[in-house]
Amino acid sequence: MTQFDKSIETPPRAPSPVHRFGTLAVHAGSPHDPVTGAVIEPISLSTTFAQTGVSQPVGLYEYSRSGNPNRDNFEKAVASLEHARYALAFSSGSATTATILQSLASGSHVVSVSDVYGGTHRYFTKVAAAHGVQVTFSPSIEIDIAELIRPGDTKLIWIESPSNPTLSLVDIRAVATIAHQHGIMVVVDNTFLSPYIQNPLDHGADIVVHSVTKYINGHSDVLMGVAAFNSDTLKDRLSFLQNAIGAVPSPFDCWLAHRGLKTLHLRAREATVNATAVALALEASPNVIAVNYPGLNSHPHRYIATKQHRKGMGGGMLSFRIKGGIEAAERFCASTQVFTLAESLGGVESLVEVPSSMTHAGIPKEQREAAGVFDDLVRLSCGIEDAEDLRADILQALEKAVVLPKINGSNGVNGFSS
Ligand SMILES: *Cc1c(COP(=O)(O)O)cnc(C)c1O
Repeated sequence: MTQFDKSIETPPRAPSPVHRFGTLAVHAGSPHDPVTGAVIEPISLSTTFAQTGVSQPVGLYEYSRSGNPNRDNFEKAVASLEHARYALAFSSGSATTATILQSLASGSHVVSVSDVYGGTHRYFTKVAAAHGVQVTFSPSIEIDIAELIRPGDTKLIWIESPSNPTLSLVDIRAVATIAHQHGIMVVVDNTFLSPYIQNPLDHGADIVVHSVTKYINGHSDVLMGVAAFNSDTLKDRLSFLQNAIGAVPSPFDCWLAHRGLKTLHLRAREATVNATAVALALEASPNVIAVNYPGLNSHPHRYIATKQHRKGMGGGMLSFRIKGGIEAAERFCASTQVFTLAESLGGVESLVEVPSSMTHAGIPKEQREAAGVFDDLVRLSCGIEDAEDLRADILQALEKAVVLPKINGSNGVNGFSS
């Protein structure tokens, strides 16, 4: 029996918020300073807090690793946006994953979707094993879940929806229903959509995690992570580990991420508008083999998007297979002028990358291709520039990457069929 067992008793849910998302994003966890009236919270850099007597701190805080005002306020804001009672912030998305995995007893078993974030895959296969936690990967978790559960040992199901970088969706409710019949917790990595577009706890997940580095901060200048949940047992266990392991963000990073979060709804909406325009242009192009975007009606899991995402929105991420193989994919990335060739996602600026050689290079080729991550797959993160400029940039880069080399016969690729 692990620390998690109690949390399966359905915990109380967060009170339904009085206000809507934008109002909460701006105001949750943002009290005016009671002394100066400052509308924006000060950055509280002090690592230690004075006490009036032994073990009698002046306020709520003693030592900054255990808690500080900026982290508390950020955590309150995220909890509110994820419809959670609690949120805990960490120094990165990866530290969040590691802390949750650390909470499992040795001998525990985890079932994960196959195409998880590369760093999560690395942690599951290379680090978790070292403390006796085994992970099984499934390419079709809704179908395989009942079969993959090892009664008594399986403690956690790990879902990413949409998955990275193929943007396939998982029906969270369907998996959570089966998991809960076996007393197993469900974690959803919601980084790709942000709390504006999807709230996994509303669909039965027990923990939602984010790489705050991406949409929540949104400005590509903070590395941070967060986990949100409703259970008191989880709150005790994970906040104990947050303090004991100490992978915590700085007050300054919490302040920056909180500032970024206040415009999340505006950015997520604009990124969706832009990604939709780009996805439609790619889908109509003869130079593209396939487009993965959950906002398109052609997406095989579109029916999940319409029930799981706010207004069926597709978010800002998409990927596509370019004609002409890896060479064309590389030429494409070198030819964009607005999209920057770089890893990461979720910022105000648009980015492009080739997962097989960059973010997912650590996953063996066979496993990668089984999950749909072919060498010719290009991933786009649409920022908040103007849709028409992004669309034009994609079309001119396709021309340079696929059409011109074919005309010149200089690309050395035999056949553009796949
Ligand atoms: C980036 C990312 C992570 C890891 O977060 P870091 O902040 O880089 O440690 C985890 N999951 C997903 C889906 C990500 O995109």
